[in-house]
Amino acid sequence: MGAVGERGLLARIRARVPGPPAGVTIGIGDDAAVLAPAGRTHAVVTVDSLVERIHFDRRWSSPADVGHKALAVNLSDLAAMGASPEWALLSLAMPGDWPVAEFDGVLDGLLALAAAHGVAVIGGNLARTDGPLVVNVTCGGACRPRRVLLRSGGRPGDDLYVSGTLGAAAAGLEMLQAGHDAAGADEAACVARHRRPDPRVRLGVAIGRARAARAAMDLSDGLADAVRQVAEASGTGASIDAAAVPVAPGARRWFASRGEDAVSRTLAGGEDYELLLAVPPKWRGRLRNARRHAAEPGLTRIGTLTKDRALVVRRADGEGPLPDGFEHFRRDG
Ligand SMILES: [Mg+2]
Repeated sequence: MGAVGERGLLARIRARVPGPPAGVTIGIGDDAAVLAPAGRTHAVVTVDSLVERIHFDRRWSSPADVGHKALAVNLSDLAAMGASPEWALLSLAMPGDWPVAEFDGVLDGLLALAAAHGVAVIGGNLARTDGPLVVNVTCGGACRPRRVLLRSGGRPGDDLYVSGTLGAAAAGLEMLQAGHDAAGADEAACVARHRRPDPRVRLGVAIGRARAARAAMDLSDGLADAVRQVAEASGTGASIDAAAVPVAPGARRWFASRGEDAVSRTLAGGEDYELLLAVPPKWRGRLRNARRHAAEPGLTRIGTLTKDRALVVRRADGEGPLPDGFEHFRRDG
């Protein structure tokens, strides 16, 4: 880092970032960015940090993986609001001895995902730290005012759907931690989900535009956590059908090989970055069309929101309470 200096690093970013798109009057290079939102849209804004050793481990995530994930987790939050992403601010706290090649690697991963979703990097900040590497991304998008998806919109009787398959990121992280050779395609998919989650941007935007869900949330901290948050915000309970939870094949086998219940582990495991949706049964056709339009993975109905405020999981052998989700402050660093 030292040899290049802050100006040199900034120049490396500026050289790689395309000019500002429509809606951004001033991008990188001034004291602040200037935005000119299109008429009648609302700005939707979110921020997330990835901290080395807490959220990623450089032993098994490349700098490009870290850059990808730092943006992906923000895009996932915007998708859960039904907002189309537009811009990102990148703030890095970097150890003084951090190799410039790794700085470039973080940019590789972040800028590739940004380009894939038409997101402009419009500014940021570079700081030196004596602590771990911190990659902080703020992301903004646009949404028509009455199309925004909230956690609080659910009603009793709404069906709960999830996109894609779950449990893969938690299983993939454990495979990496255990030094497991994830050679098969299903196992490799788990490891890839941990390293480079694929945010459901097109799906969230399509669902928001079509008003195909009443409530939504992304699965950053696990399915159990998301069900709890949506139910609490909506003033409902929830009933989840354990047999319906779409556990990723590689995760199912991994958890079974550890003698663990795959559904319990999947309910608790975080970082899948799929979407949880609350959808009235009569909106099912709209939901299906939005999903097809977005060309995203399938949706699975996993339960319902209930008038009774209890949060339960139904299994073949009876009903039990919804387990706790993933808790950041309990996680070992
Ligand atoms: Mg979220």
